[in-house]
Amino acid sequence: MRVIVIGAGIGGLTAAIALRRAGFDAAVYERAAELTEVGAGISLWANALRALDHIAAGDAVRAVSLGLVRSEFRVNDGRTVVASYRAADFERRYGVAPFIAMCHRADLIAALAGCLPAGVVRCGHECVGLEQDGSRVTVRFANGHTDNTDVLVGADGIKSVVRTHLLGPEPPRYSGYTCWRGVCPRPASLPPGSAGEWWGRGRRFGITTLPGDRVYWYTGVNAPAGQRAADEKAACAEAFRGWAAPVPELIASTPPAAVLRNDSFDRPPTREWAKGRVVIVGDAAHPTTPNLGQGGCMAIEDAVVLARCLKRGPDVPASLAAFVRERFARTAAVTNESWRLGRVGQWEGRAACWLRDRLFRVLFPLVGEHSFSKFAAFDVGPFGEPRA
Ligand SMILES: Cc1cc2nc3c(=O)[nH]c(=O)nc-3n(C[C@H](O)[C@H](O)[C@H](O)COP(=O)(O)OP(=O)(O)OC[C@H]3O[C@@H](n4cnc5c(N)ncnc54)[C@H](O)[C@@H]3O)c2cc1C
Repeated sequence: MRVIVIGAGIGGLTAAIALRRAGFDAAVYERAAELTEVGAGISLWANALRALDHIAAGDAVRAVSLGLVRSEFRVNDGRTVVASYRAADFERRYGVAPFIAMCHRADLIAALAGCLPAGVVRCGHECVGLEQDGSRVTVRFANGHTDNTDVLVGADGIKSVVRTHLLGPEPPRYSGYTCWRGVCPRPASLPPGSAGEWWGRGRRFGITTLPGDRVYWYTGVNAPAGQRAADEKAACAEAFRGWAAPVPELIASTPPAAVLRNDSFDRPPTREWAKGRVVIVGDAAHPTTPNLGQGGCMAIEDAVVLARCLKRGPDVPASLAAFVRERFARTAAVTNESWRLGRVGQWEGRAACWLRDRLFRVLFPLVGEHSFSKFAAFDVGPFGEPRA
C-alpha cells in the first residue's frame, strides 16, 4: 500500500519512519526548498521518546539531545523557587531516559530525516489541493506535479491545506500571548541539563539548555494578535527589563536576527480528522498552545499509532477511524490543559499572581506529578500488535 505524507515536520517525518517500518511505501512531500526548522529548541518528553523507541528512532534523537537534570519554576525576582524537580526521579519511575530530551529543532529534523532512506522526502512540493474517490487520492502541487496514493496523511501543520479540505477554512484560536524565542551561548550560571520557567505578571520566560553549550529561551507575553515591533530583540528586552539574571543577559547575548516572534494559537478539539482515505495528524489535527511542551510529542505519538492502525488490514477508512478513536481523547486533553495552564500563567493582577505562585508551590507536588504521569508516563503501546 502506498502512503503519501504532506509535510516534513516532526509529525510527517516520524509518520514516514513508522509507516516504512510497518512495511508501507511511504513518501513525504515538503513545501520548503530544503529540510530546515526555525532557530529554536524543543523539549521531547518521555512519552515521545518511548514512542520513537517503538520505531527504532529514539537513539537518533537522544544523540542530538541533552537530558534534563533539574527543572525549576521561579518568580521573576529570580530568588523565589516556586517548584522544582529532578529528572532522575521520574526516569526511575517511568523506566525511560532521559525524562525530557532537549534539542535544537534543526538537529531533531535532521535526526528524524536520517532515519529515512534518501529520496523518501521530496522538498519544493507545496500541496495545493486533493481529490479522492473510493480507491485512490490524487494530490496536486503548486509546481504542477501530481501524484496519487492509497492513503494521504496531512502532517502540514496548523494552517494545513489537508485539514481545510476535510473541514473547510477555519481560523485558529488566538491565546492572547505572543512568544519570542532565541538560541544563545550558555552562561556559566546555567549548568548543562538545567531548565526552568520564570513567572511574572502577564509574562513568563522559559529556559532550556541545549547540546553544544547553548541555551534556548522562550517567552509568553500578553499582546494583541499580530502586533509586531521594528526591532523584536529590543521589544523583548524591554518586556523583561528588571527581571533577575540570567533573563536579561540571555536576550542580550542573542543575535538580533535570531530573535523569533510567533503568536500562540491552537484550535478547539474536533474529531473530524479523517474522511475516506485522507487523515490529518500532529498540528494539522490538534494544534495546542506550547504550555505543556507536548505538541510535538503528540505528533510523534500520532505517527506511531497511525502506522499501527493502518497495519490492521486493507480497509483504510476503518483503520483511519480506529486511529481517530485511539488519539482523540488524549490529544484533546493536552490542548485543553495547555490552554488552561496558559491562562493562569499569563495572569496580570498583582494579587492573583501572588496567590498563584503560592498555590503552585503547595499544589505542584500533587498536581504536577499527576500531570506528568498523565502525559509523560504514557506508552502508545507496542508497535507490532494492534492495541487491545
Ligand atoms: C513556541 C512553541 C514552543 C513549542 N515547544 C514545544 C516543546 O517544547 N515540545 C513539544 O513537543 N512541542 C512544542 N511545540 C509544539 C510543536 O512545535 C508542534 O506541535 C510540532 O512542531 C507539530 O509538528 P507537525 O509536524 O505536526 O507540524 P509542523 O512542525 O508545523 O510541520 C509542518 C510541515 O509541513 C510543511 N507544510 C505546510 N504546508 C504544506 C503544504 N501545503 N505542502 C507541503 N508541505 C507543507 C511545513 O513546511 C512543515 O515542514 C511548541 C510550539 C511552539 C509554537
